[in-house]
Amino acid sequence: MYFNQSEMRKEYQNDFPKLAADLKAIGVNTIFTTVYEGGKAFYPSRVMHSSEPKLNLIEMRGVMKLNGIRFAAICQIFYDPDVILNRSDLIPVDSHGNNVYVDWQKMICPTDKEYRQYKLSVVKEVAKKFQPDILCLDFIRYPTTWELVLPNEKPDQIRDFCFCNRCLSLFTQKYSLEFPDSLIETAQKAAWILENHGQQWTDWKVDKITRFVISVRLAVERIDPNIKILVHTVPWSSEQFDQAILRIAGQDVKALMPYVDYFSPMIYHKMIGQDAEFIHDLTAELYETTRKPILPSIQIEASNEFQDYTSNEFEQTLIYALMTPSAGTVAFNWGNLIQIGTNESDRQARRLVLQKVFQ
Ligand SMILES: [Zn+2]
Repeated sequence: MYFNQSEMRKEYQNDFPKLAADLKAIGVNTIFTTVYEGGKAFYPSRVMHSSEPKLNLIEMRGVMKLNGIRFAAICQIFYDPDVILNRSDLIPVDSHGNNVYVDWQKMICPTDKEYRQYKLSVVKEVAKKFQPDILCLDFIRYPTTWELVLPNEKPDQIRDFCFCNRCLSLFTQKYSLEFPDSLIETAQKAAWILENHGQQWTDWKVDKITRFVISVRLAVERIDPNIKILVHTVPWSSEQFDQAILRIAGQDVKALMPYVDYFSPMIYHKMIGQDAEFIHDLTAELYETTRKPILPSIQIEASNEFQDYTSNEFEQTLIYALMTPSAGTVAFNWGNLIQIGTNESDRQARRLVLQKVFQ
């Protein structure tokens, strides 16, 4: 179960025993939560710029352990709205030379050495301080707002990153390439790369993501070999949108497989215009490819509404999400289920569905 810090801290304050009891009551066995967001840690941190003084999730982790609930610490990697305030060179640039963020996802160019070192040190601190059962790597990919990509999207309409000056220079150095003199604009250089060195470009992107996961695996293993590593993947099948999972996101599950214990594709099917059956299809595909435990993430409500997604539909969703070869499911999120006085009948219906399916 996802527990959203920013929405939920008001409801529970620091009453973690109550949270544990509520989770147990419907059969939840693992809590997934962000342990930092942007530059703010939800625990006393030495590495990050600031810590939320009222929140200490290390205490929460302890209470969960006492109650037999596993703790999954979500670490956001190439997403950080705070860091770009002082480092505009980390803002990714698309193939048209455009670096404007068009939605909430303030993602980061994945090739800056210093930023990668910083995030790795954050991950190490999380592993040391929390010793979580699962360490989840989120936003471990090139920028793409998959939440807004519908099944009929044309492959070349999905924004392709990152063609910033650093990336262009690192890529050309690596493959000993030189841009023809006639190319001046970023868009021209990007088009030249994609046309003449497309495969190398995809390989290079994939390598940037895979290498980060490898360094996390090695570092975490030294801290505590019992910590499992989970990677959140975009909800695209291998062929969809002209292999966009590789080409756009840089996520190669085959390459990642040796360093990962779980894959969790974020299959919020209502959001991405798919049937509930797609959850099972994609889970099965990932399992066939990796032979790793797959934990599909699913949504509990749709577009901030309950009426667009009935509790019967939610039950169907859960059934598809748990169908063999699934290893379980991660439901998003607890804030849609608790008793807060609004839509209580919808919330209760969903709690009952979970209870029924989990027990
Ligand atoms: Zn870049």
